[in-house]
Amino acid sequence: MFKHECGVIGIVSNLKNISYDLYFGLRSLQHRGQESAGISVFNVKRTMTHKGMGLVDEVFNKKDMKNLKGFKGIGHVRYSTTGKSNVENAQPIFARTCLGDFSLVHNGNIVNYRKLRKKLESRGAIFLSDSDSELILHLLAFSGQKDLISALKEVLNKVKGAFSFIIMTPDFMLGVRDPHGFRPLVLGENSFGHILASESCAISLLKGKIIREVKPGEVVVIDNKRHTNSFYFASPKPAMCVFEFIYFARPDSYVFGQNVHQFRVRLGEKLADETNIDADRIIPIPDSGISASLGFSRKSGIPYDRGLIRDHYTGRTFIVPSPQDRKFKVRMKLNPIKSSIEGKKIVLLDDSIVRGTTSKIIVELVREHKPTSISFLTASPPIRYPCYYGIDTPTRRELIAAQKTIEEIKKHLNVDKLHYLTIEGLKEVIGKKCDNFCFACFTGKYPVKISGGGKKKDSRLAETKQIKLF
Ligand code: SF4
Repeated sequence: MFKHECGVIGIVSNLKNISYDLYFGLRSLQHRGQESAGISVFNVKRTMTHKGMGLVDEVFNKKDMKNLKGFKGIGHVRYSTTGKSNVENAQPIFARTCLGDFSLVHNGNIVNYRKLRKKLESRGAIFLSDSDSELILHLLAFSGQKDLISALKEVLNKVKGAFSFIIMTPDFMLGVRDPHGFRPLVLGENSFGHILASESCAISLLKGKIIREVKPGEVVVIDNKRHTNSFYFASPKPAMCVFEFIYFARPDSYVFGQNVHQFRVRLGEKLADETNIDADRIIPIPDSGISASLGFSRKSGIPYDRGLIRDHYTGRTFIVPSPQDRKFKVRMKLNPIKSSIEGKKIVLLDDSIVRGTTSKIIVELVREHKPTSISFLTASPPIRYPCYYGIDTPTRRELIAAQKTIEEIKKHLNVDKLHYLTIEGLKEVIGKKCDNFCFACFTGKYPVKISGGGKKKDSRLAETKQIKLF
């Protein structure tokens, strides 16, 4: 399974206090990051921040929420892609600079981070964390510009990679999306405020409606009276992450203009077009295989059934008898239903296969209940390349499809049939706008070239021509 990246939210309201709205909005983005959570609010005089390690519910208690009072604020849930998983790297990050006070939340991965950080350190900058997001604050402070907007225009043309930021200052809030628009960022409103969020599920939870997405290369400005404005810092070169559709985003969200559930249903229909399988049941691997399995069932006529029950109460870490007992760990999360499996030809459907370790164990668990045959389908093409744009992926050596042929993977998983959605099938499901998407983890064709190895090293992007519009 790919690891999620981060989720961000920002609200400017006409209420006295919106901390609970931030809290609930953040909770709806919990699937994007479970390592740490944080909220900063601004209450006319000062910014208050509370953050910590763990899930949103673990980080905030009633007392914390009572102390957080402000008419606007930003929030963050984190899964680390650059920097360690510790409280120093938790966000929002607050800074007092020559350009004024501001706090920032970031979703993405700045790939020329190490190079830029080295330069700043040689000029005297002292970093408090090893997260790439802190870099933005230093770059702004060192820009030499007189105001934040001018500094931001300069800085955004220096950083490369994937970034959807929300920046809060005493006077306004800014929503920023990189020129490729790798990660989503959507603008919405409800009866009391304007909302910026990684996914629209946060907006709909707060009874709001989507106004529009922040466009690649765009900065949306919301002032304290909730007037909005925007400008482009670079010309858009869309390369939106197709994995947001396949796995990361919540099914009830609209990202990149499409509903995620419906998109996944169409992936399942496409899988049915591409395969000819004789089976008694289609069983999703929950949760991410559910929508595609519904689509597959509708198109193929093979009945949909539940055959694996996911335990939603299993935390991030739980005690197992032996750390080596991976099978038990998977069983804790996904327990098979014998009556749905025994004596039946079944199809298992998952969103993707990354290392193949979990898939192999799931097949072993299902085989314990004696199906007649198992076919395995994935609603994405084989993943053969790592991601450098804000997703935690293994190296090529660990990616099963980079090391084995489809036939070898079939044997490794011990299944009777194995079919990956084709890249052509995936593009057909996206439709006319498929040139606006990134498929690099399937094709190795990175939207901006990577030089210098993996993301933990200095994975710099080749310079891309960017036209300043303002
Ligand atoms: S490489 Fe894959 S996961 Fe990364 S941005 Fe591109 S499509 Fe998304």
